[in-house]
Amino acid sequence: MAFLDLKNLRKSFGALTVVKDFSLSVEAGEFVSLLGPSGCGKTTVLRMVAGFETPSSGAIEIADQDVTRVKANARNIGMVFQAYALFPNLTVAQNVAFGLKVKGMKRAETDARVAEMLKLIGLPDLGGRYPFQLSGGQQQRVALARALAPRPRVLLLDEPLSALDAKIRVSLRAEIREIQRELGITTIFVTHDQEEALSMSDRIVVMNGGVAEQVGVPFEIYNRPATRFVANFVGTLN
Ligand code: ADP
Repeated sequence: MAFLDLKNLRKSFGALTVVKDFSLSVEAGEFVSLLGPSGCGKTTVLRMVAGFETPSSGAIEIADQDVTRVKANARNIGMVFQAYALFPNLTVAQNVAFGLKVKGMKRAETDARVAEMLKLIGLPDLGGRYPFQLSGGQQQRVALARALAPRPRVLLLDEPLSALDAKIRVSLRAEIREIQRELGITTIFVTHDQEEALSMSDRIVVMNGGVAEQVGVPFEIYNRPATRFVANFVGTLN
């Protein structure tokens, strides 16, 4: 049974329809990538799931609850963006605690949760540092810890690795998957990088022009592309 269900989502900005009849069922604990070229509507799908955009039509269900009209801050979803999303004037620990404070969590519980999250991302001793004192990879791990601290039901990752150096990018792929598996959190990962999607995902949705061209496990997407576009995009047709 699907934990996260996107039903016939459609989104237009004025006369421009950027997501057209997009449906996807994600199982609990599954890691699904939206893969496609820039402008194909990946981020818009993610923003509708997060509640930052209202679908023009269609519905979003989490655990059988219709959240299509539920405000973003009441959806209990964690999100990590491309880069530079940490609060620069707050320490690492304060950044991770941010969502907990907003929820009114008590000090002792907050401190314990922050310590648990910093341990989870492998930076147990860096709580007192400021973002500018961290590498890009460390900053993205802190952004992940901040997103996960309130124990969200769904994790949304929007190109979280694309601003990083190639070497760090590859090691962080595995780390993100390890953390995601450990928590068993249902995740949607947006990327334009086919290698990233192929190496990290349980399933991949290849998007083109606001629609899903193909949905499948990495092996299927790579070895049995359903359309010429998919074959071209995953690099099996040159
Ligand atoms: P992707 O994440 O695949 O790069 P996006 O979802 O960001 O694609 O964008 C899809 C299309 O929607 C693009 O053409 C983009 O310019 C357009 N778009 C996104 N947000 C808005 C907006 N708020 N107003 C108008 N056009 C938008």
